[in-house]
Amino acid sequence: MAEFSIIDTYFNRPHQADVDLGVGDDSALLTPPPHHQLVICADTLVAGRHFPLDTTAHAIGWKSVAVNLSDIAAMGAKPHSILLALSLPQIDHDWLKGFSQGLYDCCDQFGVRLIGGDTTQSPHLTLSVTALGWIETGKSVLRSGAQVNDLVVVSGTIGDAAYGLQHLGHPLQQRLDYPTPRCELGTILKGLASSMIDVSDGLAQDLGHILKASNVGAKIDLSRLPIDNALKVLSDQKQWEYALAGGDDYELCFTISMQNYQDFLQLQPNVKTTIIGKITQQCELTFEKDGLDHPLQLNGYQHFA
Ligand code: ADP
Ligand code: MG
Repeated sequence: MAEFSIIDTYFNRPHQADVDLGVGDDSALLTPPPHHQLVICADTLVAGRHFPLDTTAHAIGWKSVAVNLSDIAAMGAKPHSILLALSLPQIDHDWLKGFSQGLYDCCDQFGVRLIGGDTTQSPHLTLSVTALGWIETGKSVLRSGAQVNDLVVVSGTIGDAAYGLQHLGHPLQQRLDYPTPRCELGTILKGLASSMIDVSDGLAQDLGHILKASNVGAKIDLSRLPIDNALKVLSDQKQWEYALAGGDDYELCFTISMQNYQDFLQLQPNVKTTIIGKITQQCELTFEKDGLDHPLQLNGYQHFA
C-alpha cells in the first residue's frame, strides 16, 4: 500500500492540460498534434554516480527532469511530458517532499507534465525519467547535418558544473545541481541549425559525436571558449580542461551557416551563444589559439576518429 500512498501524495496532481489520461491508470494517454512526430528519450541518475550523495532532494528532483528536457531541446523539439521511474531504498517523507517539489519546479518552469511512472524499492536511489516532446514531422535537428564551413556555436558557459563538482560549496555548484535545459533555444534553432547536441559529457566528446555523425571535422578557437569568470584565475590548460572535458554542462552545441546564424540572432534567444569555431573537411577535431594551431592533450577526452 505504501507505493500507492507515495504516488497519491507526491506524484499525482489533479488536472493537467493537454493530457487525456495521466497518473492513475495502467498507462497514460496523449493525443499527438497533427503532423508531428513524438520525440522521446530517457536518462537515469544513480545516487553517488551521477550526483554527490549529499545533493539535496530538491536538486535531485530538478536535475532528473532537466537532463531529459535538455535531450529533447537538442532535437529542436518542444517538451511535453515526463514519466518517472523511482527506485527508493526507504520511504523518507522529507526527502520525497523535497524531491517532488524540485521535480515539479522544473516541470512548471518548462511547461511539462508528469503523466506516469513506476515506484519500487531498491538498495540504491535511482531516478529514471522518460521525457516526451513533439516536433513537426521531419523538422528535428540531428547530429548528422553539419556542413563544411558551418559555424560551431555553444550556449551559455561551459566547464562550470565540472568545476562545481570539484569545489563543492563554491557558487558554481549551483550549475551542477540545477542545470538549465535550453528548451527555448532548442526550438528556435529548428530549421536554422544544421546539427545539434546537448553537452553532457564534455564539449570535445559531444562535438565529436556531431563530427562523426556528419563525417566532417572542426577547428575550435581556444580563446573563444565561453568560460565563467570564476575559472579565469586558473591556468589556460586547466580552463580548457574544464570547458572541453568537464561534464554536466547541459548547454547546446550546434552548427549553423553564417546566414542562418544572423537570422537566429534576430530572434533574440534568451541565452548568450558564442561562436567557437568552424566545421572543416578534414575529419578531426583541432584547436587553435591566436590564429596558430594549438595541439591539446585533454584528460578524459576520447578522440572520436
Ligand atoms: P501498474 O502496477 O499497473 O504498473 P502502478 O501501481 O505501478 O501501476 O502505478 C499506478 C499509477 O501510478 C500508474 O498510472 C503509474 O503511471 C503511476 N505512477 C507510479 N509511480 C509513479 C511515479 N513515481 N510518478 C508518477 N506516476 C507514477
Ligand atoms: Mg508499475
